[in-house]
Amino acid sequence: MNPKDMSPPVVGCRDTPVLKQRGQREVFCGLTGIIWLHRKIQDAFFLVVGSRTCAHLLQSAAGVMIFAEPRFGTAILEESDLAGLNDAHAELDRVVEDLLARRPDIRQLFLVGSCPSEVIKLDLNRAAERMTQMYAPKVRVLEYSGSGIETTFTEGEDACLASMVPVLPETEARELMVVGALPDVVEDQMLSLLSDLGVGPVTVLPARNIDGKTAVGKNTVFALTQPFLGETFAALKRRGARHLPAPFPFGDEGTTAWLRTIATEFSVSDEVFDRVTEAPRRRARQAIRQAAAPLQGRSVFFFPDSQLEIPLARFLVRECGMSPLEIGSPYIHDTIHGPDLDLIPEGPEISEGQDVDLQLDRCRAAKPDLTVCGLGLANPLEAEDLPTKWAIELVFTPVHFYEQAGDLASLFARPLRRKSILTAHPNVGVAAE
Ligand code: SF4
Repeated sequence: MNPKDMSPPVVGCRDTPVLKQRGQREVFCGLTGIIWLHRKIQDAFFLVVGSRTCAHLLQSAAGVMIFAEPRFGTAILEESDLAGLNDAHAELDRVVEDLLARRPDIRQLFLVGSCPSEVIKLDLNRAAERMTQMYAPKVRVLEYSGSGIETTFTEGEDACLASMVPVLPETEARELMVVGALPDVVEDQMLSLLSDLGVGPVTVLPARNIDGKTAVGKNTVFALTQPFLGETFAALKRRGARHLPAPFPFGDEGTTAWLRTIATEFSVSDEVFDRVTEAPRRRARQAIRQAAAPLQGRSVFFFPDSQLEIPLARFLVRECGMSPLEIGSPYIHDTIHGPDLDLIPEGPEISEGQDVDLQLDRCRAAKPDLTVCGLGLANPLEAEDLPTKWAIELVFTPVHFYEQAGDLASLFARPLRRKSILTAHPNVGVAAE
């Protein structure tokens, strides 16, 4: 799509009645966020207080060998802990003491709650306060829940960042805070664009280490890079910071609109904005044009999973020529998701939450060309000849901002390409992507 064609639709989806579903859900738990957060926050350790199931989830999903000394681990609750026969707080104190003695590089320790620790009502908040007194100022101890009882998997990052907000230093400075864990290379691209625009000072949450300059106060404005940060959003507002509502920085249009919102806030001239963004926009449009050819005119159905569904649907509709049949999201937050909903022409079903059997029925009846869903639903749908894209891959792959826009379109194009190869050559094996 040319930039001149990118005017908002006459009627967007912000006011579309939302189909609210509260039934059986098929999602990973919030512990999953540790897999990208432990790489991002380089002086942190994530200690899950959970069961062997939690340990196996992390170990297999992260694919890190124990002897590599990863920056996460599990304090296993044994049956006697669950039965209340042991003093779980004393056990936890001992585990943490051993860990911090062995790993002097740890400056931030996150105690991460799980289903078992919530079921036995282990008060990790109290434990974190006690340990902060014991280990401050060398180590800061925080806690959050990654349990699967009420969460979708991206809420783990939200809960982690929200736990950091109350302990950020206070500042009076007028600063931009960019909120959301991005791969370092993508974060560097974003900081370079903001610097070229003359926007600053800029801080990020989460910072790569505790010595980062991230602080907050009533003169802080913040922009989210991830659409699943509702708790963090609320915590920052409680500290007096002001949110800059914008579409999320996916694709050319989303990235430009996100940057434009910040540029307007910091009084950047149109001339500077156009000069800084012109070349990367051109590269992004070219990359999308090449990658998105198989997507043109095809239909897409989103199951609620990563909470990225609404901005990704906007990207697929407006920059890749797809038509959405249903856009399901675990939660819809008007302030956070509204700017993207404004840009999606009315028409698709917008659904919040899940009743998985009913949604599968709608999906089968709609027969979409592409279904975006969690791992648990992908194989059954593939067996029914419905091509799928794993939603979790979109969180693990660098997809934000201009330079990744072509890769983002490619992620959606691959299943359709695979299907067309298999249809043309049914006896050829093609690895799943
Ligand atoms: S937190 Fe709950 S859902 Fe997640 S791995 Fe542990 S037991 Fe399973």
